[in-house]
Amino acid sequence: MTKKYSMTVFGCQMNERDAETLRGFLDQLGYTETERVAEADLVIMNTCAVRQKAEEKVYGLIGRLGKLKEQNPGMLLAVCGCLPQQEKAAQKIRKKYPFVDLIFGTHNLAAFPELLQRVQSERGPVMEVWDEAGEVAEDLPVMRRDGVKAWVNITYGCNNYCSYCVVPYVRGRERSRRPEAILAEIGKLVAGGSKEVTLLGQNVNSYGKDLSEKIDFPGLLERVDRESGLARIRFMTSHPRDFTEKLVAVMAEGNNICEHVHLPVQSGSNRILELMNRGYTREHYLGLAELLRNYLPGCALTTDLIVGFPGETEEDFQDTLALAEEVRFDAAFTFLYSPRRGTPACNMPEQVPAAVKKERFARLLEVQNRRGLERNRALVGCVVEVLTEGPSKTDPNVLTGRTRTNKTVNFSGRSVGPGTLAEVEITAAQTWSLLGRLVP
Ligand code: SAH
Ligand code: SF4
Repeated sequence: MTKKYSMTVFGCQMNERDAETLRGFLDQLGYTETERVAEADLVIMNTCAVRQKAEEKVYGLIGRLGKLKEQNPGMLLAVCGCLPQQEKAAQKIRKKYPFVDLIFGTHNLAAFPELLQRVQSERGPVMEVWDEAGEVAEDLPVMRRDGVKAWVNITYGCNNYCSYCVVPYVRGRERSRRPEAILAEIGKLVAGGSKEVTLLGQNVNSYGKDLSEKIDFPGLLERVDRESGLARIRFMTSHPRDFTEKLVAVMAEGNNICEHVHLPVQSGSNRILELMNRGYTREHYLGLAELLRNYLPGCALTTDLIVGFPGETEEDFQDTLALAEEVRFDAAFTFLYSPRRGTPACNMPEQVPAAVKKERFARLLEVQNRRGLERNRALVGCVVEVLTEGPSKTDPNVLTGRTRTNKTVNFSGRSVGPGTLAEVEITAAQTWSLLGRLVP
């Protein structure tokens, strides 16, 4: 009988991409994936530590799985990813949940098969978390579930140390992959039928700074556009400090680079941006938004915003509201500031009370939802290119896909298969998605 595993992935695309590597390893080891946790021989939790809520979700799940394991003592439980990459959290898991069989961090992902082997031979819990990330490991196995869209890392880690953020501590220093390795991975994906690739990094704009060869992110993007044969190329995440006109020009001249930039601004107040250690001003950001719209008038601009950073006054918050009004983001992920142990902001005085954060959050959401809906409404009546993903989760008679600007479109018409680039007329707009009909 083949062994079965079940995996829960928390957090961002980096974790999703790591999960694809874990799936690749498990496939080589003869495991198959199951959605039914109760029948799994191995349960993996690939965790996130970016906000307190993400952490709490993980602890809740570990607790529930512990109960399941009581009925099925042979079941192996593994916790990996960003949470145990922090020493204190790893120790906490070890002490509070002694039934967890394997704990490892983001830096020793490549050692997963050996670690699993040790769990099986030592018959006791194994915990191994490396402090340093080491060299970029190429040629790790990968198993992707989506045949149409894929994520490809171009950098790992982050050097920015934004004062609220745990990522540099749990993902290590920034390391770029060699362009040949990136192009080879994309080449395989294209040969396998993938239509869209998102180039992935915490700050894609600093790509190549640590490489011996002379290449920067616009240069890489140009090469991927010219050489890959992909229908669509995306990239994430851009940092406003390192985002250049050269990049916008490459986007404008490229054939298959999608007209969407995710450019987290975090706050509209210069005072708060400085406390956040973001390295740019509100004026600089507004300049970038203008630049983008001058070169690429149809381009979508999305962002991340944090509400209630320590010391944020009503006036600072007003600056954020005004910025959201002015920029008119297509979409924004809005977060309540969450103190993270070990980050400078965690110890800053004047932490904002929860009730104030919540109240500001609601006001920001109102502005953003209104602005986002306006942006979407402007598309009603237009015909756009949609990359079909398949039937919608909520209604199997409706197809779903995304525009080049990364907006979800649910559309009707004759059935077309996943991976089809469809011409769709937009018939209605919602805050987070569009409705449409296939052009006959
Ligand atoms: N590298 C990307 C993504 C980092 S994490 C970037 O720089 O944009 C994704 C988002 O989570 C961040 O953009 C930020 O808005 C949010 N975030 C990170 N740490 C946070 C914290 N401590 N509290 C609230 N939101 C946080
Ligand atoms: Fe975190 Fe800042 Fe790095 Fe993004 S750029 S991962 S917010 S430290």
